[in-house]
Amino acid sequence: MVERFPCQAPDCDATILEATVRKTGGFCMPCSQKQKRLERDLYIRSNQKVVNRFENITDPLEILMLMCEPPSQDPLVKDVIYPKSAAELCSSLSQTDAARLIDKCISLLETGHFSISIELAEALRRATTVDLSKLQAKLLELNELDSPFLFANANARIRDKLLRRIHTDPSGVFPALAWICDSLVVETFNRWRHEYAELTQYMLEAGWELTNSGERRNLCSDKCVQLVPVQNSSSTSGSCCIQETSKKCVNCGRVLIVLVDIGKQLIDELQLDANENIQVICCEFCSMFTTWFSELNDRHEYRNTQVELPGWSLTLSPMPRSALKAAKDLRSPYFAVGDFGKGLSQIGGYPTWLQTARYPKCPGCFSTMSFLLQVSTSDLEDSDGIYHGFKCSDGCRRFTAVCYQRT
Ligand SMILES: [Zn+2]
Ligand SMILES: [Zn+2]
Ligand SMILES: [Zn+2]
Repeated sequence: MVERFPCQAPDCDATILEATVRKTGGFCMPCSQKQKRLERDLYIRSNQKVVNRFENITDPLEILMLMCEPPSQDPLVKDVIYPKSAAELCSSLSQTDAARLIDKCISLLETGHFSISIELAEALRRATTVDLSKLQAKLLELNELDSPFLFANANARIRDKLLRRIHTDPSGVFPALAWICDSLVVETFNRWRHEYAELTQYMLEAGWELTNSGERRNLCSDKCVQLVPVQNSSSTSGSCCIQETSKKCVNCGRVLIVLVDIGKQLIDELQLDANENIQVICCEFCSMFTTWFSELNDRHEYRNTQVELPGWSLTLSPMPRSALKAAKDLRSPYFAVGDFGKGLSQIGGYPTWLQTARYPKCPGCFSTMSFLLQVSTSDLEDSDGIYHGFKCSDGCRRFTAVCYQRT
């Protein structure tokens, strides 16, 4: 019989052959590999160098270019992450630098660097209202219509170029037209709405819908304020996030929260249609699995469907309380569109969709509810979900809704 020896690792019951003992010094192969991994991790941790690619660089364009570069592949190099997002950086660009950035994006397109060019251009579109017609013309010339958002608010010349393509490439052209959504686009969409069912979705992605009578109805607001972590905020406006109510969820029994309480001052600033505070109430757990409707009246009646929660939902921990507050200044309404980083929590503006755009129907009047706010859990903890808050704004105006999306 071949003699076997016990593995030397304290928690291991494996026995090994003499040849393995000679090779590993007494450990079974899994334990030996684990040991090597730990040694390697320790080596990396103690020898890793922090490299700041942005050191001494002051040109915002150069910084933006560096931000788009992939991180170092060397495990011994730890890249410093730039403290601002690309869109934040773009929002402080001078007119001249914005024009330089557009030229840069165009030359990147011409040399085949599509993804970097589009990433930079989207950051610029998110943060500013700068005229992108030169870039849009180039995108059209190259037939590069993968980022319809870049056509938001495009001028009539660009629109007409797109309209001329409807007969040859409607599926590529409609999403971009949806972001332009001027009166001619609205008229065109109304004409094609029965022929192309997907138009409905393109309009929702761009934040509007067609009424039965063929008019445009905005589902988003052009006024937007960021919800920032409390410690960074010097705001005094009465808007609080994630506070517990005294009510319990009828479905899971956990305490209901006010996701965001929008005070009168902010209601005026954002030109929201309400005479008193808007409190968006939900169960932070059940709303992950169902649309959570809540009635806006003195008694805050709740109307939510029973939903079967998956077993693992029991391990979910509540979000930190009172951790976000409205910032002092308004920001671009497009700031959060198509972004996946931090700083996406906001009231007003256009939402970030981690999946398909979805606007709930009001349970009181069946009209499409308008986007009101979003709370991104990455602004609160190490997590990647977004709670979207909606309000019935054109119909009965009695209900709010909360939905949840994650990547
Ligand atoms: Zn072992
Ligand atoms: Zn619940
Ligand atoms: Zn309603």
